[in-house]
Amino acid sequence: MPLQLYDTMARAKRDFVPADPKRVTMYVCGPTVYNYSHIGNFRPVVVFDVLFRLLRQLYGEAAVCYAANVTDVDDKINAKAAEEGVPISVITDRYLAAYNGDAAALGALMPTAQPRATETMDAIIDMIGRLVENGSAYAAEGHVLFNTQAFSDYGKLSGRPLDEMIAGARVEVAPYKQHPADFVLWKPSKPGEPVWESPWGPGRPGWHIECSAMIEQELGLPIDIHGGGIDLVFPHHENELAQGICDGHQHGSYANYWLHNGFLNMGDEKMSKSLGNVALAHDLLKIQPGEVIRWALLGAHYRQPLSWTDEALTQARNSLDHLYGVLGRARHIEAGGSGALAEEQLEPLMDDLNTPAAMALLKKLATDLDAAVRKDSGQAAPLKQDLLALAGVMGFLGQDPQTWFQGGADENLKARIDGLVHARDAARVAKDWPEADRLRAELTALNVEVMDGPAGATWRIKEQA
Ligand code: AMP
Ligand code: ZN
Repeated sequence: MPLQLYDTMARAKRDFVPADPKRVTMYVCGPTVYNYSHIGNFRPVVVFDVLFRLLRQLYGEAAVCYAANVTDVDDKINAKAAEEGVPISVITDRYLAAYNGDAAALGALMPTAQPRATETMDAIIDMIGRLVENGSAYAAEGHVLFNTQAFSDYGKLSGRPLDEMIAGARVEVAPYKQHPADFVLWKPSKPGEPVWESPWGPGRPGWHIECSAMIEQELGLPIDIHGGGIDLVFPHHENELAQGICDGHQHGSYANYWLHNGFLNMGDEKMSKSLGNVALAHDLLKIQPGEVIRWALLGAHYRQPLSWTDEALTQARNSLDHLYGVLGRARHIEAGGSGALAEEQLEPLMDDLNTPAAMALLKKLATDLDAAVRKDSGQAAPLKQDLLALAGVMGFLGQDPQTWFQGGADENLKARIDGLVHARDAARVAKDWPEADRLRAELTALNVEVMDGPAGATWRIKEQA
């Protein structure tokens, strides 16, 4: 079964065929780094991390070039820097470090490149220059604007006709625009804001041109896959596409597949900073393992809305407890088999990244593995292999089961519990049952569950009721 991806441009699932299977390219729009990102911002991070892992599985690790950018020039960054009285780089470095730390805690691999707008300025200015030269853009009053009339397919990605966009424009149209839908490629900086020299006067770039130039510089146009949240289809991706095509790329080949994730919602509303209904990943990660949050984020198909609830997190925790529990009971089994991940195990992911179905398959493999371990059947080794391989493509089950269950305990508590468990083992060997029972009661009082297995006793901190 070939990999199928839902392409926003085609409005259908299409077989994924990279232009060059030895160099598969993907770009995903990343964060504006002026604050901690909320858990909704991390939905695309985790979703496209699964796609990155899957592509590496299919085409080889070295063949996949994945760039996820950082917007580090922006009004909000400027405002935050002014508020703290520091250069913008202090703000952007601080929040980029936090973002990368949170993404890693959620099990996301580092993309192969993380371009920053401030480090792409020459390419941005060059691209604007080419657009002006070929009549796709014009300079006016210190601004450079993209001429939407120059691109007959403008609106094709989002499915919005141009006149509808004009009727929908609520803001007053700037006098220097030839057409209300024209958008900014370059604009003058306000006093005190960061500024770059350009042929059109000192200023800074618009948001859309940054991404087109970063893609050109980092990956080269056209790319295979362009991703981001559904809110980016219009205007951001529509404008990126217009710029890219008018910069001399054949139509349809700015990006060959457009992928967009649905919103993460709080109640009925999109989680967003402007609505103030956000949960920061940075805070959640203090009370939940990253893997639990990752499981909850992948619990709905990426194009569907995802409701963020405490129950979803509890269910995620229970599911992972089950999987790690099975792995703990199977720890004496050496994973074996062909070594390759069977095609049928990949089927759900090959169907437009159907993560809920893939997670159901993980649970089924775990249940089968548990039964095989109990029966001591020869199936245990290949089942363990399949379970771990599929989990690896999804970024799950990377921890030792023991570490998973003991993750909530600090070092002192762990040492104390280890001591009690060993003493209890010794009491059992000596058949001193009252002492063994007393020690078990002491462990229970510490909220510890002891599991006796063929390779000795293991323990876990129980879920708080
Ligand atoms: P921003 O920092 O707002 O530009 O968003 C960064 C990325 O997160 C973009 O791809 C957005 O589409 C995505 N995003 C923002 N809010 C949500 C949400 N509530 N659910 C899913 N994706 C979101
Ligand atoms: Zn972008």
